[in-house]
Amino acid sequence: MISIGRGDALILVDVQNDFLPGGALPIRLADRVVPVLDRYLHVAERLGLPVFVTCDAHPPDHCSFRARGGPWPPHCLVGSHGAQIVDGLHLPPSTVLMKKGTHPDRDGCSAFDETGLDDRLRLASVVRVLVGGLATEYGGLRTVREALRRRLDVALLTDAVRAMNVQPSDGVRAESEMILSGAIPVQVAMVA
Ligand code: ZN
Repeated sequence: MISIGRGDALILVDVQNDFLPGGALPIRLADRVVPVLDRYLHVAERLGLPVFVTCDAHPPDHCSFRARGGPWPPHCLVGSHGAQIVDGLHLPPSTVLMKKGTHPDRDGCSAFDETGLDDRLRLASVVRVLVGGLATEYGGLRTVREALRRRLDVALLTDAVRAMNVQPSDGVRAESEMILSGAIPVQVAMVA
């Protein structure tokens, strides 16, 4: 068990329809993280922890899309169903929603990219972030890297992330990097 409370915040990265099976950029078994993330949300609400939720919100000419030489098909277009947060997450009323990747020429992969998250965490006196969501080796990894760089403590919610795995070991490698860099691996049974 780990003790969760004052100074902790929950960050959910890009849990959006386009990343679930059937979406524009589906991640295998990504739907499995939804009920797990919902349990973390329940814990956060009970303890009054700040909750931050990022959403990819791309313009049609975003630089990460293949038409512009990027790796991905169009996904999470602003205003589309695919860009909406998935059903099944009970977000506390105080949840802060943050859009990222809104500029055509900026990748916006980390939760810290032009979202104001830095200031919000400081204002809330957050010293440790609990990070889950999609995908492990993109939004997850980059968010964790940025958090560690800011000397925040990080708990990686290993049962609430899923990897794209363009290369089969991408997700495993990303998790290893995060843990070797100082993130502690956490599962929901340890907090709930
Ligand atoms: Zn994107």
